[in-house]
This record gives sequence, C-alpha cells and structure tokens, in this order.
Amino acid sequence: MKVKKNDTVLVLSGKDAGKTAKVLVAIPKANKVVVDGVNVQYKHKKARSAQDVSSIEKQSGPIDASNVLVVCPVCNKAVRVKYDFVEGKKVRVCRKCNALLDSTKEAKEVAKTSKKKAKKTAEEKPAEKKASKSKKTAKSEE
Ligand SMILES: [Zn+2]
Repeated sequence: MKVKKNDTVLVLSGKDAGKTAKVLVAIPKANKVVVDGVNVQYKHKKARSAQDVSSIEKQSGPIDASNVLVVCPVCNKAVRVKYDFVEGKKVRVCRKCNALLDSTKEAKEVAKTSKKKAKKTAEEKPAEKKASKSKKTAKSEE
C-alpha cells in the first residue's frame, strides 16, 4: 500500500471526492485508509447508565486506498508514488519531482551523518594545531 499514516492525500471518488486531508489510520490488510473528515459516519451512542448522555458522534470511515492519491509535500500535487532504494532502504518517491516522500527519516539520517562529519573536522583541526605547536617547542629547545 502506497499510503501511510500522517500522509496528506487527495480523495478521488465517493461523496468526499476532491478533499485533501490527513490519513488518520492506515489499514494495509484491508487496503483501506481512514482520512480525516472523509466518509463521515454517524454513530448513535445510547446512554448505558443514568450518568451517560445519549449522543450522535461523527466518525471518519475507512475508504479504499486506491481512491486516494498522496499529495507530495514538495511540489504540492497529488501524485502517484514510485519506489526507490536509498542506502538499502525502500523509500517512496514523488513521480513528478523525484522528492522523497518518506523524508522525515531521511532528513534525520542526513542530519546525523552531517553532524558526524562536522564533529570529525572539528576534532581534526585542534589536533593539527597542537602538532605544530609541539614542533615549535621542540625547535626552541634545540
Ligand atoms: Zn513532488
């Protein structure tokens, strides 16, 4: 299933066609998704005890995952998704602008690696200075 929880999707068919909203629940087994405010169903809740109040609750209902398109956060278009492998990991890619749709994990990983590199360069520089100083002191001793 190409739709995941917290994706923003465009609804293609049904009474809520044209809406864009966030995926609240993904149900891969049934190939369905629950989208916020889409396929709203009314649940009549009867009071079971004297303290309870009878009410009618709105619930977003599941719709078929094939009836939604993921909205790319980069180009802001409803796009079909293709898969690609980045550093051995399967990621979803926008078919139009090739942006990674699972960018949160990727961004974190990139940030981690760049931080590591920054630390390494920071460590190397003072070490060089120390080495040059020790050479100077050695010369002055002579
Ligand atoms: Zn895109």
